[in-house]
Amino acid sequence: MKYNISFQPTIQSKLASIDFDNLPFGQVFSDHIFVADYRDGAWQDLRIEPFGPITMMPSNLTLHYGQAIFEGMKAFKNQAGTPVLFRPEMHAKRLNASAARMCMPDLPEDLFLEALHQLVGIDHAWIPNKPGNSLYIRPFAFATEEIIGVRPSNSYKFMIFTAPVGPYYDKPLKLIAANKYVRAVPGGVGEAKAAGNYAAGLLPTQEAHDAGYDQILWTDNHEYKYIQECGTMNIVFMIGDTIVTPATDGAILKGITRDTLLYMLRQKGMKVEERPVSIDELAKAHQAGTLKDAFGVGTAAVIAPVTEISYYESQDATRVKTIKLPLEGRDISTGLKKELHEIRTGILPDPYGWVHEVKIRDAAAV
Ligand SMILES: *Cc1c(COP(=O)(O)O)cnc(C)c1O
Repeated sequence: MKYNISFQPTIQSKLASIDFDNLPFGQVFSDHIFVADYRDGAWQDLRIEPFGPITMMPSNLTLHYGQAIFEGMKAFKNQAGTPVLFRPEMHAKRLNASAARMCMPDLPEDLFLEALHQLVGIDHAWIPNKPGNSLYIRPFAFATEEIIGVRPSNSYKFMIFTAPVGPYYDKPLKLIAANKYVRAVPGGVGEAKAAGNYAAGLLPTQEAHDAGYDQILWTDNHEYKYIQECGTMNIVFMIGDTIVTPATDGAILKGITRDTLLYMLRQKGMKVEERPVSIDELAKAHQAGTLKDAFGVGTAAVIAPVTEISYYESQDATRVKTIKLPLEGRDISTGLKKELHEIRTGILPDPYGWVHEVKIRDAAAV
């Protein structure tokens, strides 16, 4: 193996104390964490150790200037009970794309993959067996230099921890199109999975919740007219028999689920268009009866159906119009979700080379 990753096993596994039948999302964490420190221009001290607190000085750069990025992915078990990862190399690449934008050092892709395989191999027993459940994986990196001053840090930490999670409850989504706030602009950091993007979305999302909506339909910064994403998911429409989704224009996060689903649809010979999509176009298609489907896509939900899209008639007006879509009759998106689930869990063969088996490692024997 190219990388030497040391392993300090936990003294007391928490595994037996976890109620796998009632997993809250993101509150239960597996026994171990992978850690790498970036110092003197290199990633070093590669290690897997017990999951636990990290200490830092109040002057830690991340806390002030937000040099912090992350990834989100999942591990499953296939039909033989072997742990599998889904398109992990895409996450390695995207982490580095995010790092580049945030002026953070590149992490070798093979180090990302080696760390991921070892960690999931050690904590394989944390992957839930129940259908629909999975092991959520959170790789992330942040500045660690302790200094007050706006400049890139000289040191960083990269970490991966995992969390067993229950099925994402895909309640149909009611969206409100943004007409006051923006998530991202071309040239900004919307293409990066940077921590600050999510902080910026909290207030608009809270206001949307208060007004009775589930998520914001993010729009462009100029006219609040062209659609970007919904909440923290990419968004896809079906107009007539064409799949239409906003083109990634520099303000849209390049979702791996989006990429996966579009690829599968094209393989099926479906017409797929990545281009600007306006709210006007959706309203007209809806009126003409050709807006067949709308759904959010991302790692957590895979596909979340959208049943309502509300929008302001004009930017200052308070009058809201709503496009309503029935939950029924979404054969393409429901079929796609099922097929992807079956590929990821080995029920169906994987013709694309997306599913990567993880070698189980005996956590006690090292
Ligand atoms: C992570 C994320 C997505 C979805 O990406 P996946 O790789 O499919 O999980 C979409 N939009 C935003 C803003 C995201 O942060």
